[in-house]
Amino acid sequence: MKFFDFLCLCAFLVFCQLSFSNNDSIPTVSTINLEKTPYKSIHKFWLEIGKDAFNNPIKVPILIAKGKEDGKTLGLTAAIHGNELNGIPIIQSVFNNLDVSKLKGVIIAVPGLNSVAVFNNKRRFSDQVDLNRIFPGKKNGNTSQQIVYQIYHKIIKLFDFHIDMHTASFGRTNSMYVRADLRNNTLAMMSRLQNPDILLASKGNPSFGNSASQTLRATAMQQGIHSITVEYGNPQVYQPEMIKRGVQGIQNLLAWLNMTEESFSLSKNTIVCSKSNWIYTDKGGFLEIPVSLTQKIRKGQVIGILKDPFGAIIKKYIAPEDGIVIGKSTNPICFSGSRIIHLGILEK
Ligand SMILES: [Zn+2]
Repeated sequence: MKFFDFLCLCAFLVFCQLSFSNNDSIPTVSTINLEKTPYKSIHKFWLEIGKDAFNNPIKVPILIAKGKEDGKTLGLTAAIHGNELNGIPIIQSVFNNLDVSKLKGVIIAVPGLNSVAVFNNKRRFSDQVDLNRIFPGKKNGNTSQQIVYQIYHKIIKLFDFHIDMHTASFGRTNSMYVRADLRNNTLAMMSRLQNPDILLASKGNPSFGNSASQTLRATAMQQGIHSITVEYGNPQVYQPEMIKRGVQGIQNLLAWLNMTEESFSLSKNTIVCSKSNWIYTDKGGFLEIPVSLTQKIRKGQVIGILKDPFGAIIKKYIAPEDGIVIGKSTNPICFSGSRIIHLGILEK
């Protein structure tokens, strides 16, 4: 066999390894060891983060691309809410189109962070806890606290830069928008590079009744990791347009971080919002929403029409101020206190 043929065969075998999966051949590990990972290579494995009721490992899928030399580490986490799926094919496509021989630094990606919820078609973990409300978890806490502790210490702490990939939740639809602390120039630039419809200023440090419990993004930022949240459309679906834009955003970020040799481009169409609010019903009924995602609306404009089952109007809801529609409900069935739209207030 000629040397060139040998190289082609090697390249083909690597391609097969990346493109076709046999779960039996993918190893399960208990920790990620970046130092022992060879340069110029892509690895996939299962990382154990706990035990299920059969005492079998609870595993999350990990993809690692280690480039030609040391550098920054970019983390990509998809589906901490198990019904928010668009981030998974975004990660797959970024890796399929990556030339690891030219990469500087490391990409660690998790295409299915809340793996138990993903295969249950649920937002929350098996104990009905929202994992994105209890970071950094507890080593000896309850089930979900232990899972989050493992995720945080085994995966998140390895990152320098991080994108947490979400979508709307059940019964809602989202534009492509980013939540980030825009007072920080690095976070603002990471956000702009995603070329989202809307960029929403959000400090990301809410505590949930317990100051030790917060979002993944807030905890990562406290650790000194540059972390933003990107919302890619709708739950429990793959949306080709969102996936394409998501891939371009990650590739833009890699270029800006000098991890690849590509160039990046910024959209002039991104709208910046300084704050946002959900607007809720105060009565029950069947809701019609006569405004669209990313539509700019004026104070006093009708944003929701609530009807009884016979078609009579119970109440019309109007916008309390000028703004833009970041997200909206898709479920017409409303109790009092149901969501109508997520209204972004444009930066002055
Ligand atoms: Zn989410």
